[in-house]
Amino acid sequence: SIPVSIVAGIGRAARDGILVKGGEHLETVGRVDVLAVDKTGTLTSGRPSLSDIAAITGSPAELVTWAAAAEAGSGHPLARAIVEGAKRMGVDVPAHADEVNTIVGRGVEARWRGRMVRVGSARLLAEAGIVIPPAAQDAASALADAGRTPVLVSVDAVVLGVLAVADRVREEAAAAVQELSRAGVRVVMLTGDDARVAASVAAETRITEVHAVLLPEGKLELVQALQAEGHTVAMLGDGVNDAPALAVADVGVAMGAAGSDLAIETADLALMRDDLLRLPHALRLSRRTVSAMR
Ligand code: ADP
Ligand code: MG
Repeated sequence: SIPVSIVAGIGRAARDGILVKGGEHLETVGRVDVLAVDKTGTLTSGRPSLSDIAAITGSPAELVTWAAAAEAGSGHPLARAIVEGAKRMGVDVPAHADEVNTIVGRGVEARWRGRMVRVGSARLLAEAGIVIPPAAQDAASALADAGRTPVLVSVDAVVLGVLAVADRVREEAAAAVQELSRAGVRVVMLTGDDARVAASVAAETRITEVHAVLLPEGKLELVQALQAEGHTVAMLGDGVNDAPALAVADVGVAMGAAGSDLAIETADLALMRDDLLRLPHALRLSRRTVSAMR
């Protein structure tokens, strides 16, 4: 049977905007000493917008058209930003490309008008054997240095150029990190994004430990490595790419409003209004609940 105080604690958490999926999770969250946290859509708003267009081969309109066509069917925040940006420019965006393949943590590959379009990280293009010309590399570096996420676009073997997407750090993110640190929790950022973009968000949120350019299995491995060191690890994330790490963490926490269905299903806790300050709140609530039981 479940102790009455745990039932009461779960009810209290729900009223405070934290969905707890079981009594054991409410107990564990108070013992967490390391938080692994995703960046895109978690520390940041997840509603990024298209900020830059660097055409290398062809015109900016062509670059945006191919990119938007490939991204049209994708729910990824970067995809939405590109599609909305294209529409603002007056580009006619199709409902979806003819064939779309999502490569988690890298981007999309789509067939459109008989051509193979790739939109995503340098890794996505490199793994497809596409040579990235120095002009595109330089543009991507400059954008990343400015804290924006560079997105490369290729059609067949040709790199058309680089788009950039800029995201805002959630206004409560730095305060949440500070509250967690005060509660004795070490905060580590795990992101699939570029290292320079990650560093800029880390500086803004005062996170000093950052692991960037991670694939979903890389996030999982880092959580496992922290556990092997004896830590009780919570993972906080929103994306499909976070699901393996959410599943293996001692406590998986999903962004409940903007999070993907898979992240919410996999997690043990969900922050119902995506308010990051709910996490330190859950920690305090757990510690109070558990000490009331003793
Ligand atoms: P994060 O871990 O920061 O939430 P993701 O794992 O979702 O980020 O994505 C990692 C990187 O993969 C992105 O920064 C981007 O370079 C690339 N990427 C992923 N999905 C897309 C997409 N739909 N369009 C363009 N690029 C993408
Ligand atoms: Mg994310």
